[in-house]
Amino acid sequence: MYAIDATHDPKRRSWVESANVPGADYPIQNLPFGRFRPAGSAQAYRIGVAIGDQVLDLRAAGLIDTDDMNALMNASAAERVHLRTKISDGLAAHSASQAAWQRALHPQSACEYTLPCRVGDYTDFYTGIHHATTVGKLFRPDNPLMPSYKWVPIGYHGRASSLVVSGTAVKRPNGQTLAPDAKAPVLGPSMRLDYELELGYYIGRGNAQGHPISIDDAEAHLFGVGLFNDWSARDLQAWEYQPLGPFLSKNFSSTVAPWIITMEALAPFRAAFTRAKDDPQPLPYLDGSKNREQGQLDIQLEVLIQTERMREAGEAPVRLTLGSAHDAAYWTAAQLVAHHTVNGCNLQPGDLLGSGTLSGPTKDSAGSLLELTSGGKTTIRLPNGETRGFLENGDTLILRGWCERDGAVRIGLGEAVGTIQG
Ligand code: MN
Repeated sequence: MYAIDATHDPKRRSWVESANVPGADYPIQNLPFGRFRPAGSAQAYRIGVAIGDQVLDLRAAGLIDTDDMNALMNASAAERVHLRTKISDGLAAHSASQAAWQRALHPQSACEYTLPCRVGDYTDFYTGIHHATTVGKLFRPDNPLMPSYKWVPIGYHGRASSLVVSGTAVKRPNGQTLAPDAKAPVLGPSMRLDYELELGYYIGRGNAQGHPISIDDAEAHLFGVGLFNDWSARDLQAWEYQPLGPFLSKNFSSTVAPWIITMEALAPFRAAFTRAKDDPQPLPYLDGSKNREQGQLDIQLEVLIQTERMREAGEAPVRLTLGSAHDAAYWTAAQLVAHHTVNGCNLQPGDLLGSGTLSGPTKDSAGSLLELTSGGKTTIRLPNGETRGFLENGDTLILRGWCERDGAVRIGLGEAVGTIQG
């Protein structure tokens, strides 16, 4: 686990004035990593850190000598803490670096972004127990949670090639669907297109094949966390998911935020991992004192929608969901890493582990339309009178996240945004 140090000091301010505005996503205590270039340019993407409404070009500031984020993610925990300290010291008010680093700043609004790293492999888990229970009831009323759920962090291997960065349009997928009374499926556009509110956990240093990562070492192998929308075609999913799990219902597109919030930045926002007495306690390889004391992440999550009609009328997005990652997740990120590697599977820098849909215990904290509409049986009503069962063309979905706690400066995860195209 990463310690709270001078880089988290609430009194620390930056010479980048926009970073000192209360409520800003990227104060000097955050320092998330992404890949950017001037918008519309053909330059190679380079590594930046968000500060206020600016991006600091780390190479131009003389802090690193690579444009390869995955190489940077392969650093040891000590090297990472050292780099964070150098960035924080240089951006702090009255730093001697100000004059030189000012030239390495770019306004975020004048930049474009790509995936924050090269994702070689992507695994999606199913750690949201309220989501798993509600969805399980829809698909299997008598048997919502499979017996393995409380023993095994359930997951499936997803597809890395179709990950996109926030702002990329999402094309409605075609696929096979079986209408309720039909004898045979048809091929056509998904009519039950949904989102999934998730966190993405990015792997830092990997492990050699055959050498599992222990739960106590797992956080040293986690680089950080970003917002993640696992777009899902529920009609395709219902028809294809047995016996091998989701396939084309999930792999047409998934949207990530441009910024990875490092595990170091999240140090003040940790919470205990607990397991109810009546539930099975984790097997020893999924249990450890560090994980029990602070394995959970105290991150607030929000989903908003703006329909095409709202956009044309100049109406702001409206909230669909507000919840907390830590109320939702049955397993911690460290447990996912320990489980994923216990059989000898090797993780590599930049690999992405999806948390699964992080729905809270109540309906206003449900992280998908599948849950908000009870499997499409009801609709939700928007303030302008429009209703939604599932997503329609022109709908924009916005995921937001942030951490807030007494004695710490609020940090934000930014946004993961996508608009559905027909
Ligand atoms: Mn998912």
